[in-house]
Amino acid sequence: CDKFCTFCIVPFTRGRERSRDLNGILLEVEKAVDKGFSEITLLGQNVNSYKNKNNKFHNLLEEVSKINGLKRIRYTSPHPKDMSEKVINIMNKYDNICNSVHLPLQAGSNKILKRMNRTYTKEEFISLAQKIQNRIPNVGISTDIIVGFPGETNSDFEQTLEVMDVIKFDFAFNFKYSARRGTKAIEYDDQVNEEDKKSRLTKVINLQKKHTLHKNEKLIGSYQEVLIEKESKLSSSNWAGRTDSNKWVIFDKGKSEIGELVNVKINEAVGVTLKGQINYNA
Ligand code: SF4
Repeated sequence: CDKFCTFCIVPFTRGRERSRDLNGILLEVEKAVDKGFSEITLLGQNVNSYKNKNNKFHNLLEEVSKINGLKRIRYTSPHPKDMSEKVINIMNKYDNICNSVHLPLQAGSNKILKRMNRTYTKEEFISLAQKIQNRIPNVGISTDIIVGFPGETNSDFEQTLEVMDVIKFDFAFNFKYSARRGTKAIEYDDQVNEEDKKSRLTKVINLQKKHTLHKNEKLIGSYQEVLIEKESKLSSSNWAGRTDSNKWVIFDKGKSEIGELVNVKINEAVGVTLKGQINYNA
């Protein structure tokens, strides 16, 4: 990674950005499809900074989506700064690119974003997330949030909650800031005390739970295409799979098998999970 966020050790442990040859990636995906894989995830840090010869990330995404027989493509994790209009257009154009974007916010205060070296403002992030929500029907947007970054006051933290309220993420990975040796942020002398970090994390988790449930409840009664990925942890008679928008759904196994795409009617939203039943008439 070339971004050097001040809390992150990745650029020091993993080194600078490198982009693989586009044809090599296509060949690998083609081989996976031949072996029967239905879904491919393009993985990179940051995946949308991809550039190889004249190819950028939107070119890679488009070429992968044209591969015959590939049913689903995901990618993670993009950096908001590098999320281009062209990527959004390609997502819109190809049905086999999943309607799901992981867009790490990290913090809602411009002061903290600057200190984190995130290279975007709260306003830029909101406008990007809203553009994605408006342009990609039924998109699911997830995020990462760090609370208690050095120098974060209550009013800085409140701005994180405000952004969450505006965007209403489908899901969020929430963390307390934890100092990493070798990073710039460990040297900041205004570290936030543990108690404040804990109480802010609880607030963020509770707000996100509310948003996730609200978003999931809207899907009750709808029919979703679900890729069966594994047996449910809770019951050996149920499968667990994900919707296009990256939501987990639990349903009775019936005669279906792992790897199949099935049409599922959503009956219930429980926490971050949906429950449903296979629609055999689809
Ligand atoms: Fe790079 Fe992500 Fe780490 Fe920032 S948080 S330095 S973008 S890997």
